[in-house]
Amino acid sequence: MSDYIYFDNAATTLQDLRVTEVMLSCMNENFGNPSAQYGPGFAARRIISNARENAASLIGAKADEVIFTSGGTESDNQALSYMHYFEKGKNLVVSAVEHPAILNTCKRLESFGYKVHMVKPDCFGTVHAEEIEKAIDGNTVMVSVMMANNEVGTVMPVRSIAETAHRHGCIFHTDAVQALGIIPIDVHDLGIDLLSGSGHKLYGPKGSGLLFVRSGLNVPCLIEGGGQENGFRSGTENVPAIRGFGEACRIASEELTQRSKYESELRNHIASRILSEIPDATINGVPIDESYFNEQEMLKRLPGNLHVSFKGVNGVSLRILLDMKNICVSTGSACSASNEKHSHVLDAMGLPDDITDSSLRITVGKNNTMEETDRFVDILKESVFNVRRLMGGGN
Ligand code: PLP
Repeated sequence: MSDYIYFDNAATTLQDLRVTEVMLSCMNENFGNPSAQYGPGFAARRIISNARENAASLIGAKADEVIFTSGGTESDNQALSYMHYFEKGKNLVVSAVEHPAILNTCKRLESFGYKVHMVKPDCFGTVHAEEIEKAIDGNTVMVSVMMANNEVGTVMPVRSIAETAHRHGCIFHTDAVQALGIIPIDVHDLGIDLLSGSGHKLYGPKGSGLLFVRSGLNVPCLIEGGGQENGFRSGTENVPAIRGFGEACRIASEELTQRSKYESELRNHIASRILSEIPDATINGVPIDESYFNEQEMLKRLPGNLHVSFKGVNGVSLRILLDMKNICVSTGSACSASNEKHSHVLDAMGLPDDITDSSLRITVGKNNTMEETDRFVDILKESVFNVRRLMGGGN
């Protein structure tokens, strides 16, 4: 990786070496089946239960409220399968800026006869509780709004959305894949019933994740079998991945505050250099200078996220030019970037096509350095200038 400047930490993160080390030792030494009734089985079971403690503690949950899954997509699918407890015709309210793991699961629910109401955000990407309330009717049983958006980094007012959902007798799920280990989360304090998280966004292994299910609540099991994970997810556990995910959660609990401060310093530096040195650049999402705390004392914007448009410059061309210089940034979320579709998030925010088509998502992480931010802006400046010159617009 050392040849690259990697500014796509919202897509995935470089696994922490401390995580790799514990996974390697687990793979080499702890091969027992966690269901086996002898030493190596007990040892594997202990590994899982320690990891569960670490994951639970990162979100203020009890250990038995955490189910290990294969990642955010599976957790989102399982959370929304709660709808299957209700008859057809019941409603689910979601935001229009959710990840495809939610939006495509909603399409499937609709094909089964459930109703889905989509709520638009404001022009900064914030989904407001008042708008959620307007979409709730007597048939609504569930509300799902992400904790932080994966494209523009907007952090949603989840406490007031959860309160609104509960006031109307609905349960509240949040996709916290972009928030877990990045901003502080206390599920009970925020009133969350179900929460999805993913390991590979917090320097843990790919194919690992969690679903928090508040005590007393049930969700259907997507994978039937031997009843592992307290009956919520069958199949022999991926012990090394769970060990690594638990370690990533433990490290995140310790380092979150300092990482967040560091990442916002790097992000703010890139933003201020772009705004002062590259003409006609606009920041999308919550303005950086207001991105500190909302009324719930949560950051309004993820600390490492910068989403910026350069007037007249095609975002895809710019990304390709930057890739040729070994710089990794993205034009949308990783999952949709390969088909280069218009961003449904920017569309829902009501941004005009010229802003959407000329945008880049830059997401810094704990391994980036200030030196990289400067090198990046120098190359970005030159690339924007070159594209504009080729297009005959000058700079
Ligand atoms: N939800 C959000 C908001 C995401 O950003 C992602 C991945 O980018 C996912 C869900 C899917 O998570 P995973 O890659 O762990 O399946």
